[in-house]
Amino acid sequence: MLNKVREIRPKEDLAPLETAYRFASRNHTLQLRSSGEPYMVHPLAVSHILADMRMDMVTIETGLLHDVVEDTSVTIEEIRRQFGEEVARCVDGATKLSKLDFFSKEDRQAESVRKMLLAMVTDIRVIIVKLADRLHNMRTLGYLSPDRQERIARETIEIYAPIAHRLGMGKVRVELEDLAFQYLDPVQYQEIVKAIDSQRRSNEEFLAEIQQTVTEELKAEGIPARVQGRVKRAYSVYQKIKRQKITIDQVYDLLALRIITDSVKNCYGALGVIHNKWHPVPGRIKDFIAIPRPNRYQSLHTSVLGPHGHPFEVQIRTEEMHRISEEGIAAHWKYKEGKTGPAEDDQRIAWLRHLVEWQRDMQDPTEFMATLKVELYPEEVYTFTPRGRVIVLPRDATPIDFAYAIHSDVGNTCVGAKVSGRIVPLRYLLKNGDIVEIMTQQNHLPSKDWLLFVKTPRARNKIKHVINATEREKAIEIGEKYLEKEARRLGVELAKISKADYERVAAVYGHSKIEDLYAGLGYGRFSARDILRNAAPAQMPADAPEPRRPARDAEQAAEAAQAARLASGRNGEGIVKVKGGEDVMIYRAKCCNPIRGDAIIGYVTRGKGIAVHAVACPNVQSLLYEVERRIDVEWERAAGDCFQVKVIVRTDDRPGMLNQLTSVLSNEDTNIRTLEARAAEETGHYGAIVEMTVDVRDKKQLERLVAAMRRISGVRDVERPMN
Ligand code: MN
Repeated sequence: MLNKVREIRPKEDLAPLETAYRFASRNHTLQLRSSGEPYMVHPLAVSHILADMRMDMVTIETGLLHDVVEDTSVTIEEIRRQFGEEVARCVDGATKLSKLDFFSKEDRQAESVRKMLLAMVTDIRVIIVKLADRLHNMRTLGYLSPDRQERIARETIEIYAPIAHRLGMGKVRVELEDLAFQYLDPVQYQEIVKAIDSQRRSNEEFLAEIQQTVTEELKAEGIPARVQGRVKRAYSVYQKIKRQKITIDQVYDLLALRIITDSVKNCYGALGVIHNKWHPVPGRIKDFIAIPRPNRYQSLHTSVLGPHGHPFEVQIRTEEMHRISEEGIAAHWKYKEGKTGPAEDDQRIAWLRHLVEWQRDMQDPTEFMATLKVELYPEEVYTFTPRGRVIVLPRDATPIDFAYAIHSDVGNTCVGAKVSGRIVPLRYLLKNGDIVEIMTQQNHLPSKDWLLFVKTPRARNKIKHVINATEREKAIEIGEKYLEKEARRLGVELAKISKADYERVAAVYGHSKIEDLYAGLGYGRFSARDILRNAAPAQMPADAPEPRRPARDAEQAAEAAQAARLASGRNGEGIVKVKGGEDVMIYRAKCCNPIRGDAIIGYVTRGKGIAVHAVACPNVQSLLYEVERRIDVEWERAAGDCFQVKVIVRTDDRPGMLNQLTSVLSNEDTNIRTLEARAAEETGHYGAIVEMTVDVRDKKQLERLVAAMRRISGVRDVERPMN
């Protein structure tokens, strides 16, 4: 490996590589790979792959050290001390999260991928190391058990190969895909390989023939070129079979030719030569030189009917395009000494930044993974502005996505769209070649409904941003009015409160601006009365009377509705409604957390809308002493909602108990959100307490669960706490 690096980076001091190697091998000593080889074989192989990519010293060192923190007792601080900040950052980014922090393998996987993506944004070398790591693991996957093979191969094809594709690293992507395919569908894989193999001789003869013809024709035209013949790889044939629903015998263009020349002009020249010699297949000519793919891939593609009526595909590109299509983002480290990576605005990284923006909103690891997989899906549509600018969007993107891709102002003020001169709905799914004209109207604002059908994270984020800003404005307005009203009621003169006083109070609530204070009031986060007490203590009446029916007047109910809608999300809306259908905002009280089927009662709060309690809630008796604040509420018709409920189980402390409890839940097909079990000594009897939060659809289901748990021998008591 040192010889290899010496060759590509003659000026570099190689001592750090030796130190890293010794450090890693000392710490991995006695560990073995599943193949039975010493563990160190793996990090060394990874660093070889990175050296072959001509990556820089930091990356190769990281390759040697990448598993030390994950698999040995070495900490990231030790790496930082010995190898510096950059290496430590890369090793950390490539290290999976600890097993101990997660209940499930899936959550751990999802959160580890999220961590890796975040690390990539600061240093793209993290993912290059991860891809090299994955490549070597895939090459040696044969030693693992079948279920691990399947799991790792699936993750490779769903996450790592698409990331390599996004970064333009064609060579790595292709190898990952073919390796993963081999394990995911061994039968199909063998069938395709056999089919290709059986025609090997005739394929080779045919390729040699056209290769020679093309070389001669190009020479005659004075176009310098390398001409390569190749058989398509197994995975791409497989995708074609699946996509077009055909059998392997019906895949006619297994063969392909690649022409690599010196200039763009000669690329088009070569295309002319090919089309002059053989008939092009209509609809198969693609110009990725004029319109590069988002990962910067460039080439001309065509399919022609060759000699003996055999069709084949031709790709034409320059040397530079070829290098970029094979190495992608890794090409940056190759020739430029001292250059640390691609430019800030590189499209291949821009998607990553967007991704990091939207992932913040996603708490649920499963949701995160599902969205990531869609996001990585490489299919895209090419659309145009009326002036001919190309806008590349993901499949199923809409005119709204298009508008935001042009400019956020265009998106925000979009009121309609025309495709090729005809008006289309905003939900229209754009197709390749659509010429899209966006109609805008000043002062128009995006609609919440758009969030239901936009495809790009960019559009989604901009829409959310505007909606939040408008709602904030409204909240500030409400907050101001609310404060005035409360001041009038208490006889406090607002004019006497200085700006400095307001600022001081804002600081008490953790805000630096007075607007934030008003907004907080409007959202119902704190009470006007408390603010007045803080801002003008001297003016407050000694015992200010309780408001009589503050929230029942229509205006305030509407304000409160607004505030609660903002604050509570799905917590009540659409699940519970006020009898008679008044439009107010409503939320389920946290203390008793009523679920569908519970008898419920509403309580009109000040500024926060209507709290819904279970009738059995101990708070209800004390809260509802003011009869005029009661309001009748009822469950909305079931809409497949699910409720999180806390359950406390007291049991004998015996092996297998937890297992029996959880199998009750899986029989009911419900989820466990959290679970905590501990030994407890109670009134002299040794036992255990299990606290869990589970998802249920309604009270009936909960009752079934509780009954089933009670039937388990050794379960003493099952309780749903109401406080
Ligand atoms: Mn590894």
